[in-house]
Amino acid sequence: MRNSPSRLLYAMIIGLTAGLIARGLVSSPEVLLPWIEGVTKPIGTLFIRLILMLVIPLLISALIVGVLEAGSGKNLGKMGLRTLFIVVLLSSISVLIGLGLVNWIQPGKWVPKEAIQAMNHPPPPISESHGGWESLLQIVPLNPLKEAAFAFDPKNSEGGILAVMFFALFIGIAMLGVPVAEARPVRDFFQSLFTISQKGLQLILQMAPLAVGCFLFNLGAQLGVEGFRLIGAYVTVVLAALLIHGVGVYSLVLIIGAKHHPIHFFKKISEALLMAFSTSSSNATLTKSLEVAEKNLQLPPAVSRFVLTIGASANQNGTALFEGVTILFLAQVYGIDLTFAQQLQVAGLCILAGVGTAGVPSASIPFIAAVGAGVGIPLEGVTLILGVDRFLDMCRTTVNVAGDLVCATVVARGHQEQSDPQ
Ligand code: ASP
Repeated sequence: MRNSPSRLLYAMIIGLTAGLIARGLVSSPEVLLPWIEGVTKPIGTLFIRLILMLVIPLLISALIVGVLEAGSGKNLGKMGLRTLFIVVLLSSISVLIGLGLVNWIQPGKWVPKEAIQAMNHPPPPISESHGGWESLLQIVPLNPLKEAAFAFDPKNSEGGILAVMFFALFIGIAMLGVPVAEARPVRDFFQSLFTISQKGLQLILQMAPLAVGCFLFNLGAQLGVEGFRLIGAYVTVVLAALLIHGVGVYSLVLIIGAKHHPIHFFKKISEALLMAFSTSSSNATLTKSLEVAEKNLQLPPAVSRFVLTIGASANQNGTALFEGVTILFLAQVYGIDLTFAQQLQVAGLCILAGVGTAGVPSASIPFIAAVGAGVGIPLEGVTLILGVDRFLDMCRTTVNVAGDLVCATVVARGHQEQSDPQ
């Protein structure tokens, strides 16, 4: 994931400019179709297929390792439960804000339908959605291997990727109940699978500038300046949702849950926020977060170490929000109407993704490709947002890190009240 933002930015500018020039030079966009279908589109699709290839091993190992880290021995108990409660609460609020905004503003429909149709094949048929209890029951897989094998098949009417996630979470929880020595071989296996999958993803992401360049060429050549409107509307919705959550919700939680003045809080954590923004990685920011928590916020080290270490991988509100907005945006672009039940499923997946997405740059991309494929979004859909992903990653990681520090402050407050009751 060592793509410097500047490489991606250059790729974006070159791709888009070339696309717009090509469109200006020809009498009709159709003339460019053989080039798009034969060269630029296959490169983008290759990139996404490579990412999808890694999703199942990455997701299963990340969730199992995440549960084991969050729930191991000393981490259990009241502090663990309080942290879990705040993580789930904050993630749920962030996803709801994102989904509310994307449904309201509908950025995916800001471009005339004909222009979008020119870009895409008709969306593939989506599985019939079951209602109520039935769709909830689908989350429990009858055969986890089958669900993993058909996770990206839009015609799969069973639980798909959600069922795979459920299975991984369940195995992680079961492993917590097994004596450490007995669980160690499987734990080591998943830890190592996680590291290898991350390395694989890093290798594939080397290709991102080329894929981004190709896709933006297609965007420029087929949509012309309308492409800017589309991506601009999407970026605006993501940023607005992140701002509402990162400033509004966090301030309220700080006032209610920790009696802490939000402005003072954000001033004290600014160094960590700056580092999150520049690295796009919660994990890389962990040391800085620990430092500001102990030195500037004066949180007890026992609390900050516990909450921030778990939070760097498992509490990613900005990521959950971003994934929800992106999946719904892409569904709008491709004219896929998601029912309320399907949107709820997407929301549930995104909340889980807050736990399953690694705290490294671009970690959300495989997840979006997987869930997107599950609801019928064509593979190349993800490339539509890749050009702006790095910038949005910087912003969502800042919200992720702020969320970890908010969570630590609230948990520390409860811890303090417990240790010195009036
Ligand atoms: N870059 C994010 C983080 O490290 C994860 C993601 O959303 O890609 O927190």
